[in-house]
Amino acid sequence: MTDAVEIRNAVKRYGNVTALHGVSLTIRDNEFFTLLGPSGCGKTTLLRMIAGFEDVTEGEIRLFGQNIANLEPNHRPVNTVFQHYALFPHMSVIDNVAFGLKMQKVAQDARRKRAAEMLEMVHLSAFADRLPAQLSGGQQQRVALARALAPSPKVLLLDEPLSALDLKLRQAMRVELKQLQEDTGITFIFVTHDQEEALTMSDRIAVMSAGHVQQIGTAQEIYEAPVNRFVADFIGETNLLPVEVLSVRDGRAEVTLPGGHRLQVAAAGQGIGKHHLSIRPERMALTEAGDLQAVVDRVVYLGTDRQVIARLEDGTPLHLRLQNSDRVAVPAPGKRVGLAVEAGAARLLAD
Ligand code: ATP
Repeated sequence: MTDAVEIRNAVKRYGNVTALHGVSLTIRDNEFFTLLGPSGCGKTTLLRMIAGFEDVTEGEIRLFGQNIANLEPNHRPVNTVFQHYALFPHMSVIDNVAFGLKMQKVAQDARRKRAAEMLEMVHLSAFADRLPAQLSGGQQQRVALARALAPSPKVLLLDEPLSALDLKLRQAMRVELKQLQEDTGITFIFVTHDQEEALTMSDRIAVMSAGHVQQIGTAQEIYEAPVNRFVADFIGETNLLPVEVLSVRDGRAEVTLPGGHRLQVAAAGQGIGKHHLSIRPERMALTEAGDLQAVVDRVVYLGTDRQVIARLEDGTPLHLRLQNSDRVAVPAPGKRVGLAVEAGAARLLAD
């Protein structure tokens, strides 16, 4: 099957600012693909290059096998949904949804029918004759989605479309968006700086920083096997521990943890010397002896679990999560505790 989007060594320069340093990635047809990264990492630039709003300084972008360098934005089989929905305020909801079809010179009957179907898909049939100002923010965003989907783009680009909504609505819309993508079978490319949003909806995620793609993978791969410090730190909460790699053999490394204990971990090309280990807070348990020794600073009750904030003997801060259902004794501040790292939970990082 042909891939939906293929980006080969894309470079983008604005004067002497380089926004993208040779990005390569492939997005499959039918995929919910997310570009995730902090402000300024280049994700919007990449999306705008796919849409045709920005040209590519160097490199190539292919849509379904076709080089699109010379294709005007309105001739590309893509459509964009923006953060601010940009609905036409004087047009009814249904006319807003039908707008793109009118531009494509679709006959009036056919476009009313298609727009009505789109409104049904986003559960807004009852609002067809209202003006955008008579809708809530979430409803307006759904109209914007229906409008973008009406002309049947092959790829839908979504630039932080949920960030103007309040938290509850944003959470509900995540589920709706994923459902919509599955129902339509259209490739979605979603831009966000919100890692939770990315983890809940995406088939695959490209984590970006400073104009580079740092890692591409499923939510689980990125969370459980981050390749470097940036990814480990940006996705979820983690402990980054300085360690010394003593030996590497058959893909296994022996490392010395702070405090002197030794641990066997998977190695991925790291050599002997100083590195960092990432250990998720929920993958350590309190024990008598343990791999690490720490002193508890404070315990924070968070509903389903408790966060334990502790310090290793050398002062390195450490976070731990204890499930409240585990019924483990909660350590008091000031107490010395031992911590056992779950087998396979410690990831040796490339710096
Ligand atoms: P945000 O989440 O804040 O939108 P982003 O990851 O989408 O950030 P971009 O908007 O793609 O980042 O910007 C990437 C880099 O390119 C930034 O350093 C930005 O300042 C720069 N940049 C973007 N547009 C222009 C422009 N028109 N002229 C000059 N520099 C630009």
